[in-house]
Amino acid sequence: MAFGRWASSRRARGALLALALGVSLQPGHFMAVGGDRAPVDDQWDLSEEGREGILEILMEDHPGWARRSYVLRQGAQRFWLRGDTAAFSSAHTGMWVRVRGVRHGAQISVTHVGLDESSEAQDRPTTKALVKRRLALLLLNFFDRAVRPYSVETAYAVLMTAADFFRENSYGRLSLEGNVFGWFTLPMSAAACDPFRLAEAAHAAAAASGIDLSAYEHLVYAFPKNACAWWGLGTLGGTPSSAWINGTLAFDVLTHELGHGLGLLHSHALECGWVVLGGGCQILEYGDTLDVMGMGAGHVSAVQKEQLGWLREGEEILRVTEEGTFRLAPYQAKGEGLKVLKIPAGANPEAGRMAWYYVEYRPPLGFDRFLVRNLNVPRGVIIRLGVSGDRGGSFLLDMTPETASWFDPALPIGRSFTDPQTGLTLTVCEVTESGAFLTVTGISGQQ
Ligand SMILES: [Zn+2]
Repeated sequence: MAFGRWASSRRARGALLALALGVSLQPGHFMAVGGDRAPVDDQWDLSEEGREGILEILMEDHPGWARRSYVLRQGAQRFWLRGDTAAFSSAHTGMWVRVRGVRHGAQISVTHVGLDESSEAQDRPTTKALVKRRLALLLLNFFDRAVRPYSVETAYAVLMTAADFFRENSYGRLSLEGNVFGWFTLPMSAAACDPFRLAEAAHAAAAASGIDLSAYEHLVYAFPKNACAWWGLGTLGGTPSSAWINGTLAFDVLTHELGHGLGLLHSHALECGWVVLGGGCQILEYGDTLDVMGMGAGHVSAVQKEQLGWLREGEEILRVTEEGTFRLAPYQAKGEGLKVLKIPAGANPEAGRMAWYYVEYRPPLGFDRFLVRNLNVPRGVIIRLGVSGDRGGSFLLDMTPETASWFDPALPIGRSFTDPQTGLTLTVCEVTESGAFLTVTGISGQQ
């Protein structure tokens, strides 16, 4: 599949190029932002305009849209990095960043950026061994809005459900243990939107109560609706990761922000009108109706699980290189069996990265039991696109484009999908409770 066909939609192309960006910043190099490249120079003049610290990449979750922001953290202090932030496109949370620019309060308009790997541990895919991570959920309110919209017990129950969700999603590889602290009334107004000041105030309140937050890998600040327009804000990875939950503390909101904390981006959908793939496609930011990193409440996509090391090529993921008939076991169930087919979809000529189709079978099991009344998903296979080595999220495809709904994205029994450019064809032959059978033909032999 060529990426060129997405070029007719500027929006899709822009996002896709960001997704598949081949440009990378060499660690330690000095790069000008929005101007000519400056010479490599280790002699940073840390004048009053210069600052250095840990880079944090944050995702602002608004209803229907999202924004990625970059933040420099110096201890408890944080600064938004604004201006031309293209230099950060391949950076990750935890890198050491040096910036020069003009500061206005908590914002720095950057003119120069330098990036290094940090001594702070990078986010690594989890290993086969059980990984335990600790989470602190802080319940916070404001001096002029000292309400408690839910109880500590309710918050703890939501947290435990989220922990169950990640245990099931990771097939037992991730164990979250958590504590709930609060309620704390902060000396700040609900009329302000300042998540960094909120975090600082929360830490001060916790410390005053003798709580040591340094032992936690995930910090979550939950508070009644304040002036911020986003419903969630979270770092992409980080040790610790940080998340802010504005208003309702729902299971899907908490798991979504924790997904960001584990390093996941959004699970999108690709809307191409009356066809599965074609010109003029649009990326729907939260378009994946099944995945909690989209608009759903279910298991994260195979693209996301592969990134986290919860599913692996050669084990639960089969890279398909030859035609054949394959059986997919239920996606959610722990145990033996092939869970995902990964089929080459073509290379992005501009970045040289491979795109792949990821195919999975999702019956209504576990946290996906909401699918029990769905007449399409449990009776077919789900097909998404992902780009290898990228952290751009996944793209759900609509295998029933004749309907307007995104709740019936599966390729149903007896139907075929053919990639219009490569001729690759997937056909669902049979679906039983224990698995889905499909044939793959027209493998182009690339990769
Ligand atoms: Zn998000």
